[in-house]
Amino acid sequence: MAPTKDQIRERLASIAAPGGAKLTEAGVLSDIMVTDGKVFFSLSVDAAQVKAWEGVRKEVEDAVKAMPGVTSAMVALTAERAGGARGAPPPQPARPQHEPHGHGAPAGPAGVPGVKSIIAVASGKGGVGKSTTSINLALALRDLGLKVGVLDADIYGPSMPKLLAIREKPQTIGGTRLKPISRYDLAVMSIGFLIEEETPMIWRGPMVMSALTQMLREVEWGNLDVMVVDMPPGTGDAQLTMAQQVPLAGAVIVSTPQDLALIDARRGVAMFKRVNVPILGVIENMSYFVCPECGTRSDIFGHGGAKHEAERLKVPFLGAVPLDMTIRETSDAGLPVVATQPDGPHARVYRDIAQKLRDALAGPGAGRAAPKIVIEA
Ligand code: ADP
Repeated sequence: MAPTKDQIRERLASIAAPGGAKLTEAGVLSDIMVTDGKVFFSLSVDAAQVKAWEGVRKEVEDAVKAMPGVTSAMVALTAERAGGARGAPPPQPARPQHEPHGHGAPAGPAGVPGVKSIIAVASGKGGVGKSTTSINLALALRDLGLKVGVLDADIYGPSMPKLLAIREKPQTIGGTRLKPISRYDLAVMSIGFLIEEETPMIWRGPMVMSALTQMLREVEWGNLDVMVVDMPPGTGDAQLTMAQQVPLAGAVIVSTPQDLALIDARRGVAMFKRVNVPILGVIENMSYFVCPECGTRSDIFGHGGAKHEAERLKVPFLGAVPLDMTIRETSDAGLPVVATQPDGPHARVYRDIAQKLRDALAGPGAGRAAPKIVIEA
């Protein structure tokens, strides 16, 4: 039987914080989540004391892991701004995209070691096909000869376990770092590999941040040309965290042609612009329907809306993906179309988009001038 929150708290009371106080009285402990023997919580500490806390974090994680009934434990360290420093922080320059992660680096988001470009695939709302687009785009980039990783940052509804039919758990390396799961020559990590798919989770802001930070920094991503990040829908904490934590090469916005989705997409564009992350382009998904019987094309949602909107917003239009049963069926069966039907028409559509994306990554502005991140309080 898994321990209760109170039993875990009791265990934590015997661990000392860096200053000597009981951990449970140091005011750093988040809510403790226990689901099916898996324990997850974070320690929110002053940014200046992160180093002092790292050992404690490990000790806490080991102690919880050793409790009877615990199958896995994930304890994240979340740095908070020093007490009293309320209001907007001063603008911080992001570090250049290609600069490797260094030690003693100045403030600002550091790159992920070995990863050249990180792109966020986002949508203003759920259900527009963002995850389907992310995985097929990642596979199409792979087809262009790039080494690609996929980070499923949609912690509220992770899709990668299903889209890639992954049921195994990632292995740890040296007990602390996780090895991404390899599928179709992609390195993949998802919170869904660590937490049961059906478990509804309530995430608080700091926990969103620490889960994402861990998936970025405590995973052995290896050398990647591109990391495709499947973002949660919307414009909340997770998006801001990504912008704060890593120098994103840019964002891709997925939208359906419907007006409503476009309004949401516009919000997505505005959000990334606000944090100075370049928009690499907009993809119109479920753009048109090709009748499988007669081959007639119908623009059931009024195709072209996203292209028009992209022009209006002065952001590149990367392409249109049809609404097609094959895309849906392959996605839902864990056999993404670009991997399983590489010579088919859909793979071609995704590869065309991937090519534009690669060009956008290599183009002016991307990777050279690092975006300035200004977070409004
Ligand atoms: P999101 O990540 O935006 O929530 P998903 O990628 O999970 O969206 O897609 C939602 C549903 O729509 C899934 O069942 C998926 O298979 C289907 N879908 C996505 N794109 C297409 C498409 N181009 N044609 C047909 N079905 C699609």
